[in-house]
Amino acid sequence: MSNRRPLVAGNWKLNGSRAANTALISALRAGLPAQSRTDVVVCPPYVYLAEVSAAIHDSVIQLGAQNVAAEDSGAFTGEVAAGMLRDVGCGFVIIGHSERRACYGETDDLTAAKVAAALRCGLRPILCVGETLAERDAGDTLNVVRRQLEAVLAVTGAEAFSAGLVAYEPVWAIGTGRTATPMQAQEVHAEIRATLARRDATIAAAVRVLYGGSVKASNAKDLFAMADIDGGLIGGASLDAAGFLGICKAAAESY
Ligand code: PEP
Repeated sequence: MSNRRPLVAGNWKLNGSRAANTALISALRAGLPAQSRTDVVVCPPYVYLAEVSAAIHDSVIQLGAQNVAAEDSGAFTGEVAAGMLRDVGCGFVIIGHSERRACYGETDDLTAAKVAAALRCGLRPILCVGETLAERDAGDTLNVVRRQLEAVLAVTGAEAFSAGLVAYEPVWAIGTGRTATPMQAQEVHAEIRATLARRDATIAAAVRVLYGGSVKASNAKDLFAMADIDGGLIGGASLDAAGFLGICKAAAESY
């Protein structure tokens, strides 16, 4: 429980179709209260952004992308720029997801450049940080998360980053059904906030820090009750309307 408005973002990953997206959005529209006590964001694959943007018009649902180019325009075949994401209605973008880091070799430096590109265009980055199981077992969790966050803050500064969010996603909890316990998550969230506070205490108190990793309607309440957990970044459960709505309800009730 905190005084920060919670946010729940659905990361659809490489899933969806025009028909499935239409069904999912209409179920979310029907299930979300008109005055939501939580921010709700859906992040479909690029090709569906414009259509989903139209489908969520006049609802409480907001739009995010799953990735962005570090460059603003030019000869970068296959890339999508932050300004283009804004142009089709995105307010948010997930950056530095562990799947981008592990499958596509995205480094801390590239992640920082992408966050800077998003901020330049008024897009709110959701910066993902988190340790692997080997790093946790080696006692390195807090060092890894600090390093990943510091790499971004060193480029953007705290003031610009204040428009962004951080998502703590332990790699061992993503898509595995294993969730960090509320206490394990809280310890890392507190360190994320302390890292921000070393640069600016006011900004640290305001930035929302989400938890991600096998969040479901059944475990969301206990996670969102922790002092420094301000909502969730949801993968698998965001594709199921009832499950995602249950998580949004848990977030609203934590506020
Ligand atoms: C994610 O990929 O951001 C995620 C948290 O996935 P899941 O909820 O499926 O673990």
